Amino acid sequence: MYHKVNPDPRTGGLGLRVPPDKFEWQMKYLKQNGYESISLTDVLDHFQNGKTLPHKPIVITFDDGYQDNYDFAYPIMKKYGYTGTIFVVSQAIGKTNFYDVQKKLQPENKIMAWPEIKELDQAGFVIGAHTVDHPHLARVAPEVAKYQIEESKRALEYGLKKPVEVFAYPYGSYNDQVAEITKAAGYRAAVTTELGLAKPTSNPFQIHRIRVTGHYSNHQFIEELHKY
Ligand SMILES: [Zn+2]
Repeated sequence: MYHKVNPDPRTGGLGLRVPPDKFEWQMKYLKQNGYESISLTDVLDHFQNGKTLPHKPIVITFDDGYQDNYDFAYPIMKKYGYTGTIFVVSQAIGKTNFYDVQKKLQPENKIMAWPEIKELDQAGFVIGAHTVDHPHLARVAPEVAKYQIEESKRALEYGLKKPVEVFAYPYGSYNDQVAEITKAAGYRAAVTTELGLAKPTSNPFQIHRIRVTGHYSNHQFIEELHKY
């Protein structure tokens, strides 16, 4: 689970920002150690329908849809033959992370516009939904959660002209009811910020991830990759 990939400290702290040189080292490590990138729906097809996966499969995800994913992460991933999944906040497309700026959680960051999102989609990346304006879904009324989950799917499908099947809970905020609403909205899977690997026994609407922060040394990255 990545967020920003950016060399500029003004774009935010290392909790959400991995500098590109570190990110490149990580991609190179994955490549040299035989990891192959797959999509979240490949994981589900494997668990649910027995689809064959590569020997060392990995899903590389990015939350929020930052412009730096296109500017810095994409060229590096292309170099190593990797694709990823980017969870985009539909109302932020072509704008900024206004939802975090308003709450004074993060500095203002550019969010990709449709041309970048469409190019990544064409390049084999998967675009997933991440609500309309990034609320804590477990803290809002069920009708609001339903709107956020359904409308973001609709808006992305309208722009991409293809089904949007995966979702990420903003701030990792969800509960059983939110997970049910996500399932009922027609998604196939949703990821949380809980730490761990996807397993055959995982609830498809509560998929865990491995967090990568900019604080990690190369050694720590390898440890995080293997500790679950
Ligand atoms: Zn987010």
